Amino acid sequence: MSSFGHPLSDVSAQSARLPHSNVVPGRACGTCTLCCKVAAVDEVSKQMGVWCPHCLRHGGCAIYDSRPPSCRAFHCQWMVEQGLGPEWKPDRAKFALARTEAGRRLTVLVDPGYPSAWRRSPYYENLKHWAEIGASRSPDLHLVDVMIGTRCIVILPDRDVEIGPLGPDEMIQVECRMTATGAVIEVQKAKRQ
Ligand code: SF4
Ligand code: SF4
Repeated sequence: MSSFGHPLSDVSAQSARLPHSNVVPGRACGTCTLCCKVAAVDEVSKQMGVWCPHCLRHGGCAIYDSRPPSCRAFHCQWMVEQGLGPEWKPDRAKFALARTEAGRRLTVLVDPGYPSAWRRSPYYENLKHWAEIGASRSPDLHLVDVMIGTRCIVILPDRDVEIGPLGPDEMIQVECRMTATGAVIEVQKAKRQ
């Protein structure tokens, strides 16, 4: 069984370990500020899916010089993954990708203003493909999930599982069971221990 925690604190922890040199040459946030809405920032008590009060109306951060360490260190996957084309830029896709849990989890942080953005082509088929690759790593499963504010959906190769609201004290348990018809992946919400 694999367990995956709430992505809030882990996004901060993971991004803090990400060296700036990992940014793909030529990529820059530019007019995008989506992570200031979709990600949580504990240091400014900002929840997922709501604009940070420090985010300026036309882009940028009002406290840029003193912004929290997790904001300084965060780069979404579009910034660091060479293979993601311009259609994956968060202000165009309406979601940001974040890799956490030592790379074992890919979370789609969706703008609640566009809750179905991740279902559009070419995104959904890619997410499904990545879920298949993640499942093939059993027993060390890799997880693809979607967060729309606090609402969590896990993408599996054969179905999407609605987890519902996922709190900071909760986690997703993933289990691969062998049945008469083959392997079945089951996911459920559980309290952190
Ligand atoms: S979501 Fe990505 S591209 Fe957009 S502001 Fe954040 S780090 Fe930059
Ligand atoms: S503090 Fe600044 S960089 Fe951090 S989420 Fe708020 S607006 Fe964005």
